[in-house]
Amino acid sequence: MIVDRQGRRFRNLRISLTSACNYACTYCVPDGKRLVAAQNELSADAMARGVEYLIEAAGIERLRITGGEPLVSPRLEGFMSRIGRMGLSDISLTTNGQLLARKLPILLDAGIRRINVSLDTLDPGAFRAIARGGDLNAVLDGMEQARAAGIRIKVNMVPLRGQNLDQVMPLLEYCLARGYELRFIELMRMGHLAGDQNAFLQQFVSLGQLLSLIGERYAYSQADAPVDATAVRYRIPDQGHFGVIANESVPFCRTCSRLRLSSTGWLHGCLSSSHRHYVGDLFDKPRHEALPALQRLLIKALGDKQAVAFSGGATVMKIIGG
Ligand code: SAM
Repeated sequence: MIVDRQGRRFRNLRISLTSACNYACTYCVPDGKRLVAAQNELSADAMARGVEYLIEAAGIERLRITGGEPLVSPRLEGFMSRIGRMGLSDISLTTNGQLLARKLPILLDAGIRRINVSLDTLDPGAFRAIARGGDLNAVLDGMEQARAAGIRIKVNMVPLRGQNLDQVMPLLEYCLARGYELRFIELMRMGHLAGDQNAFLQQFVSLGQLLSLIGERYAYSQADAPVDATAVRYRIPDQGHFGVIANESVPFCRTCSRLRLSSTGWLHGCLSSSHRHYVGDLFDKPRHEALPALQRLLIKALGDKQAVAFSGGATVMKIIGG
C-alpha cells in the first residue's frame, strides 16, 4: 500500500468518463461554450481495466463516476456494465441530472444506489444564467424518478454571491422535504478562477455566511462524518441533514484520500496541483507489466497532494471531474 508521511493513501477514485458537458456553468468554463469530448478518450474497456488495476495498485475502495457530464458519454453503458463485479465497497455518480430520467435504467442495472445531482438554483431564469444549457424541469423530474427507483440523492449547490444566494433556503427546504441531502460547495479557485482573484472573491460565499443564513430559520448541530469526508455535516432536528464542502474555510487536504483519472488517461493526485501522470497506455498492458509501472506513478501522484490547504489550480474541473 502506498502511504505518505501524513498517513494519507488513495482510497477513493474519481473517474471522468468524458470531458464533454451539456452545460457551460459560469464558474466552471469562462466563455459560455459547452464542452466537447477531448481527443483520445479511453475506451470503456480500457477505463474499466484501469479501475481494476488501480483497485489493486492503489487500494481503491470507492469509485465515483463524473465528468464533464458522465451521462452524455457514449461509453456510459459499456463502462457501467463492467464495474459492478470488481468488489468495490461503493460506486456512485455525479451528474447535472439533465439526462437522468433517460439513463436511469443503465444506472440501476449497474447497481448504483446513490448519486449526486448538481443543481444551483430552483429559479428557471437563474438556472439558464448559471448553467447556460439544459432545462430545470428535466433535472427535477430526473431526481423524482431516481428517488422513486430507490436511489439516494445528494444535491450539490455552489452558492455564488449575486447569482443564487437567494436560493440557499428554497433549495435547502426543497431537499429536506424530499429526503435529498443538500451539499453546499464553497466556490473553488479552479480553471479561470485560479487566475482571477477578483472574480473569485466577488462570488465566493463562505461556510460561516451559509451557516448564519440557515441559522436565521433553523437550529442545527454538527453531525458525524467519516474521517476522510470532505464535507462538514449538520443535522436539523426532525428535518434532515445538510453538508458544506468548505475547501476554503475548513481545508481537508490533511485527510484527502482522492485520486482522479481523466477520460484521456491522466492521473491527478491533487486538484490543486498542475502535475499529472499519463497511465492510459498501461491499461492495454497485461497486469504483471502494468502494475509495477502504475505503482511508481502513484507514488508521484500521492506526492502531489497539498500539505494543508487547497490553493487553487489552473485545471478546469470538467477535465478531472470535481
Ligand atoms: N457534470 C457533472 C455535474 O454537473 O455534477 C459532473 C462534473 S462537475 C465538474 C462536478 C461538480 O463540480 C459540480 O457539482 C460543479 O458544481 C462543481 N464545480 C465545478 N467548478 C467548480 C468550482 N470552481 N468551484 C466549486 N465547484 C465547482
